[in-house]
Amino acid sequence: MVQAVNVCKSFGTAAVLKGIDLEVRRGEVMTLLGPSGSGKSTFLRLINHLETLSAGRLYVDGQLIGYGERNGRLHELPPSAVQRRRAEIGMVFQRFNLFAHMTALQNVMEAPIGVRREKREVVRKRALELLDRVGLADKASSYPSALSGGQQQRVAIARALAMQPKLMLFDEPTSALDPELVGEVLDVMKDLARSGMTMVVVTHEIGFAREVADHAVFIDGGVVVESGDPARVLADPQHPRTKAFLGKVL
Ligand code: ATP
Ligand code: MG
Repeated sequence: MVQAVNVCKSFGTAAVLKGIDLEVRRGEVMTLLGPSGSGKSTFLRLINHLETLSAGRLYVDGQLIGYGERNGRLHELPPSAVQRRRAEIGMVFQRFNLFAHMTALQNVMEAPIGVRREKREVVRKRALELLDRVGLADKASSYPSALSGGQQQRVAIARALAMQPKLMLFDEPTSALDPELVGEVLDVMKDLARSGMTMVVVTHEIGFAREVADHAVFIDGGVVVESGDPARVLADPQHPRTKAFLGKVL
């Protein structure tokens, strides 16, 4: 579902990613770990067409990011086609970014109607099911200001799922939450993982990584320092930098 081949990204003269190779297969969950500034968010943004690569190749569902193929030739994608591809990827950020003037239900319904022009009644039914799935059936008419951080983040997950994405990206989805609200969001994410969703999750929640991830990848200095089975990488890291990092977050 995601394949990175020597992915490089620089901002001006600052090389942030210096050749990332990794693969996430359909239905797999990968957790991405690494110190602040190591390029985790940048990597997610590349997958989600929010940045362009400096070098290397990045595929989502077999399609090269930023390019389409016609008659065996690659051509740069027009913005409308990028929009269509982006709509197939769900992203959840540290900050919930809900629309403050819309209820939970309206937030979840917004993109399928506004972007994809789906029928309101069809979207409404799906949105109510999704709110139920994230445990918020009774909060459909609440505005974000009346919801806790954990509830808002669960609405944000439902909102991403409303577009029926084939891939979900999470960028530290629980790090802005009070500790007692982290669990409810992780539970929703675990459910999603078990349902077969392909997920790339930047998180420092080691328990989550151990329990549901198929791979853990540790990035530092713009490269993959260590990767593999989370049980091994997290419990028995081999690289000194992974050891140092885990020593701090555990
Ligand atoms: P954190 O754990 O703090 O979220 P991160 O691993 O997600 O860190 P990134 O946000 O990907 O790190 O940033 C990696 C580096 O790239 C940082 O040094 C950052 O300042 C730089 N960077 C990111 N986006 C831009 C940009 N648009 N322009 C210039 N530099 C950028
Ligand atoms: Mg980040």
